[in-house]
Amino acid sequence: MILGLQHWHYHIDHDNIAWATFSKKDTAINTLDYETLAELKKIIDATENSHSIALVILSGKESGFIAGADIEQFQRCQNAEEGLRLILFGQEVFSALEKMKKPTLALIEGSCMGGGMELTLACRYRVACDVDSTQIGLPEIKLGIHPGWGGSIRLPRLIGAFQALPLMLSGKSLSARECLRLGIVHYALPKRECHHAVRSILTRSEHYVLRQSIFSRLFKKFSNMTGMRVLIARFLRRQVSKKTVMQHYPALDALISQWEKHGVSEEAYGYEAASLVSLFPTETSQNLIRLFFLQTRMKNLAKGSAPIYHVHVIGAGTMGGDIAAWCALQGIKVTLQDREVSFIAPAIARAQRLFAKKCRLKHLIQAANDRLIVDVSGDGVSQADLIIEAIYENLEAKQLLLKNIEQRAKSTAIFATNTSSIALDELNTALKDPSRLVGVHFFNPVSMMQLIEVVCTEKTEASVLARALGFVKQIKRLPLIVKSRPGFLVNRILMPYLMESVQLVEEGVSIEQIDRAAVKFGMPMGPIELADTVGLDICFSVAQELTQHMGGTVPEVLHNKVLQKQLGKKTSQGFYTYKQSKKQRVKTFGVPPLYIDDSDIADRLFYRLLNESLSCLSEGIVSDPDMLDAGIVFGTGFAPFRGGPIQYAKRLGFEKVRERFSYLEQKYGKRFAMHAYSREIV
Ligand code: NAD
Repeated sequence: MILGLQHWHYHIDHDNIAWATFSKKDTAINTLDYETLAELKKIIDATENSHSIALVILSGKESGFIAGADIEQFQRCQNAEEGLRLILFGQEVFSALEKMKKPTLALIEGSCMGGGMELTLACRYRVACDVDSTQIGLPEIKLGIHPGWGGSIRLPRLIGAFQALPLMLSGKSLSARECLRLGIVHYALPKRECHHAVRSILTRSEHYVLRQSIFSRLFKKFSNMTGMRVLIARFLRRQVSKKTVMQHYPALDALISQWEKHGVSEEAYGYEAASLVSLFPTETSQNLIRLFFLQTRMKNLAKGSAPIYHVHVIGAGTMGGDIAAWCALQGIKVTLQDREVSFIAPAIARAQRLFAKKCRLKHLIQAANDRLIVDVSGDGVSQADLIIEAIYENLEAKQLLLKNIEQRAKSTAIFATNTSSIALDELNTALKDPSRLVGVHFFNPVSMMQLIEVVCTEKTEASVLARALGFVKQIKRLPLIVKSRPGFLVNRILMPYLMESVQLVEEGVSIEQIDRAAVKFGMPMGPIELADTVGLDICFSVAQELTQHMGGTVPEVLHNKVLQKQLGKKTSQGFYTYKQSKKQRVKTFGVPPLYIDDSDIADRLFYRLLNESLSCLSEGIVSDPDMLDAGIVFGTGFAPFRGGPIQYAKRLGFEKVRERFSYLEQKYGKRFAMHAYSREIV
């Protein structure tokens, strides 16, 4: 049959089953756009008009099933009408798929996201193949939009609103097993059994139906009925606003409202499309989509270097222990060294908790445990491809260690340091070959922070840098190339922000008001709580280190806290008091705290951060403003919907920024004098 397909392979086999294999031309990843959807429509028509008995849709790519819609095509749309046409076309194709008289089956292997999942929801059967690697989800909310090809209607219809709405509102993806439990897929099978299962489902005479009780079916139906929708929508809004400031993410309310008003009716599709079109031009969506592309740019920094099979980590403390565990979780053999076994034991206990949480299945937990090897004698040094030093912050101790490593490591191994403040140019003087040293600066907590600063000096060899970037990608983290200067990028920019918050405390502003103003601005947590979480001793030492190089002063109140051993969460007392890691309300007696307007607080924090960002750009700490924004968002959690400090300043415009700097300078002092580089950047 000649269909003139470029992106799909189509054939009918000896059992008269039609197989449509999606393998998008000239790209490693399958995404859906106008062309690929038009070809799918041809396949649907051809199958309906042929002697075939059923249609199976699968992927021909190793990278997974379908990553979603081609966002770039949406970005290229000239106006709302063009965007709407593209959405309605996708809906039309999926509706034709859903209405096919012959059974349809999606054989899902690997990542199946967004538009990919919406396609599978329009099929009669879904089989998740290769249980360990398959992930399915509707993550559109993370781009400031919501599903638009019928997902927000078909998913609540399939599994009920109680399960479907929270899933779409969080953008979380699910494993094959979770999908099976929720009734999203009919089967979750090991790869070797899939093709046989597909044939048996499609060739038997009676239709397979999901096994579920009448009660469960009625409950799902009931959850989508008019009266229930109003109640559930109210509940969802309350839940979501506990975690996020909803006005910053308009897609959240748009999704709830669209389902609340139109439910899962046939008319809902049109409203879903209209609602999606209205979200694309919002500032939030534009910024989140930009960050998504920046993330891809960071991942693409790592290309073509040989994989790391064995990492040796020296220093099993807070950082080294967690770095070792994370690498083992990602499939790398790790040897972990410290001065005594007793120093390694707590790291192994933490690793076991991490593996149990992330792997869930016994055999996977066991495999991760097997990859993490205690190595007090340091035998791993001579075998490892990458040796990471994470001992305490002391120049002489680190130099001595590097010297020793160089004598014992294999010639192809590269050396990395996790130092947060020592210049690599000082460290590498201990090496005969300084070109082998690179910084891989992880953030705490390692398992949660996506960013790793990859620090290089003039002497770092290009192939060593490439290998380090490849390693970061291998362990599913985002690399940011930074110059070796005090504080690198993230700590340097974060510190003035944190110090300004402490300065506010010193002036008598209540810590709760400071944190509230920052959260209102869009930060994931306030700066005072953040300082308590990082540890006030660490904040103090980094602040001291930075003020030595950059000038300024460290607020007295921070020094006093450290002297009093009130170090934050780890000592249950910092600026806040903690009981079992939970923050307690601070009661104030006597003199009421000084009141400053919330917007002044937020601006004082933000403009300090912005000035330091400009300073970093002027010194070339990172390659360009886009990378700076990405580093600050992924390294600190800076309000993603604002797109990063530089993007936000650009949105405000140069005049507004200058005006605000000048107001703050007059009112609060010289530290708010606008950086000269702002004219070129903002
Ligand atoms: P830590 O004090 O918790 O752990 C250091 C470990 O190194 C200890 O277990 C110690 O026994 C071990 N050690 C010291 N000398 C050793 C040697 N010669 N051989 C083998 N083991 C040795 O320190 P940490 O907080 O994990 O910090 C480690 C490094 O990571 C530092 O350079 C620090 O600047 C950096 N860093 C720390 C953080 C953080 O939040 N703690 C964040 C980013 C980077």
